[in-house]
Amino acid sequence: MTDCEKYKKLLVGLIDQELTNDESNEIHDHLRKCAACRDDYDELLQAGDMLGGVSFREPEDELLESLWKRPYSRWAKLSGLLLIIGGWLTLVVFALIEMFRDTQEPLLSRISVGAIVVGFIIMLLYVIRERMATIKVDKYKGVVR
Ligand SMILES: [Zn+2]
Repeated sequence: MTDCEKYKKLLVGLIDQELTNDESNEIHDHLRKCAACRDDYDELLQAGDMLGGVSFREPEDELLESLWKRPYSRWAKLSGLLLIIGGWLTLVVFALIEMFRDTQEPLLSRISVGAIVVGFIIMLLYVIRERMATIKVDKYKGVVR
């Protein structure tokens, strides 16, 4: 491998600032002496500039955001969520009543199911609380100053 080939591999690292001090000193030394590598370096820098202007934002994010901002989909989301929570809670309450009425059920399984249910409710409340916080933030975003 000639020197130039070796340095060409390092050029990318130099632009991404991934080189050690020794490596970058070495390559800067070479760049001063070698016009071919200097040209390569300039080309890479320009390509990097162009890439830097490209947004790496996922298109899905923008789609989801625009859907979320539409009032109808907000209501749809909210009512969907409420239906799921309502249905789920009804089911849980029903199952709990059934289970605790049946005294044949061993105590351990009652306790473990109870723990899972309580844990789930805590998680649910946490998620709802987070949701509320983001909705509040969204409202402020909507204000034109
Ligand atoms: Zn060179």
